[in-house]
Amino acid sequence: MSQLSPLLEEKLSRCCELPTLPAAAAKILDLAQNPVATMGQVADVVGMDPALATKLLRIANSPLYGQRRQSSNLRQAVMLMGLNSTLMLALSFSLYSSLSDNQQQAFDYTRFWRRSLLASIAARILAAETSEVSPEDAFLAALLQDIGMAVLDKALDGFYPPSAEGRNNHDELLAHEMQQLGHDHASVGAWLLERWSFPAHLAEAVSASHQLSPAFSLCDVTTLADCIALSGRIADGFMTADGRPPSQADDPSSNLSGSLEAVLDATAAEIPAIEELFNMSLIDGQCNDGLLSHAKEVTLIRSLHNSEQIEHSLIRLKDAEERAEQLEEATRRDHLTGVWNRSHFDNILKDEFLQSRKNGWPLSVLFIDLDKFKNINDSFGHAFGDQVLRFAANILKSNIRSQDSVFRFGGEEFVLILPGSDTKGAKIIGARIVEAFRNNRYPTKADTSISLSASVGMATLDGQHDFNTATELLNAADMAMYRAKKSGGNQMA
Ligand code: GH3
Ligand code: MG
Ligand code: MG
Repeated sequence: MSQLSPLLEEKLSRCCELPTLPAAAAKILDLAQNPVATMGQVADVVGMDPALATKLLRIANSPLYGQRRQSSNLRQAVMLMGLNSTLMLALSFSLYSSLSDNQQQAFDYTRFWRRSLLASIAARILAAETSEVSPEDAFLAALLQDIGMAVLDKALDGFYPPSAEGRNNHDELLAHEMQQLGHDHASVGAWLLERWSFPAHLAEAVSASHQLSPAFSLCDVTTLADCIALSGRIADGFMTADGRPPSQADDPSSNLSGSLEAVLDATAAEIPAIEELFNMSLIDGQCNDGLLSHAKEVTLIRSLHNSEQIEHSLIRLKDAEERAEQLEEATRRDHLTGVWNRSHFDNILKDEFLQSRKNGWPLSVLFIDLDKFKNINDSFGHAFGDQVLRFAANILKSNIRSQDSVFRFGGEEFVLILPGSDTKGAKIIGARIVEAFRNNRYPTKADTSISLSASVGMATLDGQHDFNTATELLNAADMAMYRAKKSGGNQMA
């Protein structure tokens, strides 16, 4: 993907002082690229580093995740933030703490990390405005968008001019890079992330971090790359404004679109929380109105680097990768209903069972068998029966929580895995499912509809109910389902 000249690439590759990926970050990265990673594995990996675990708990309980309930343990924090988000935040902390104590005289690393962290705040907020981009992916990519500068500083001795103006201005440094090397630090940064085996979309966003059209508007910000490119510009707004006395003449709000102004306000509001979490001062003193006004003005009027080559080869590569991922996922899906299939179930149940036993977390399984399903096939045909099975899978999908999963066990039997659910929680979900089947009739061609019902069996691994193996837990749910069926079906046992 990276398009460095062979000469520069060789020079960089031979440098022994390149920033290295810390071992803890490498483990997290591995897990982030594992599509079937479980909550337990994530909690395990981040839990190995107590400082990191503490930080994640603090962030889950910070205003950044404004929620009513406080997370008191790592698992709750992971549940609240989601697997990918936790991993991306963990990577951000881990990389920041290992790379930021790397100081040299000529290059101003304090300023470098300030810009990166300010951009991370803005990128996270911009991502939240889109429906497509994960805020924590954006946070991490923005944090690393200038990492190429650190590479160039290490690999090419004395590359950056020590002059005060030059080293303070991102655009001037960029011009210097282009003039000297014909490459910017964005491509160098993407090259490093590729060497570290970072997910391609993060490396791509870093690579495109200087590609923002001058006539941008917030509506154009739809991709991760857009968020990163604009975040750098916002960070520059804050950096350039910082230290300047407020001026009465400025009235930037008249030029700014309302929503961009809101993004800048939100960025300013999150600065203190990030300063505390990363233990670094991002702006001198308080973010007062004067500074915010300057930041808004600078963000708007800055000249932009508009390199508009659309990298078709990159897009093709991304398409191919997406197709490969889709194919891989398809092997874990049930063809008829689209829910997870039996072989995936076997793996996930085993894994969740081990995690729950090890950590003392509850785990519930619901076994669901549709009642008198054979009659539906007999009356309306097999193809109609297939449609009803899809309908049933959708009912199940729409009655679970985000951490639960639906599997087709076989025929007209489904299983739900409910990690973290005790008996009480599982009963609520089971009852909701029985009720949902009762309330959802399926239409036939002849303007009528048929009723559906299910028998649900529940089993829970917790302090009161111990099982030696995942199979024992599953068998208990299966037996409970038979009891429900024997009592007339259309109920839970
Ligand atoms: P019970 O209330 O005792 O569960 O009765 P049932 O008819 O649901 O159970 P039984 O095990 O006797 O029959 C299951 C039926 O499910 C028989 C089979 O034809 C049907 N079936 C299994 N897989 C599929 C499928 O993929 N598509 C369709 N249309 N039917 C299926
Ligand atoms: Mg059956
Ligand atoms: Mg049945």
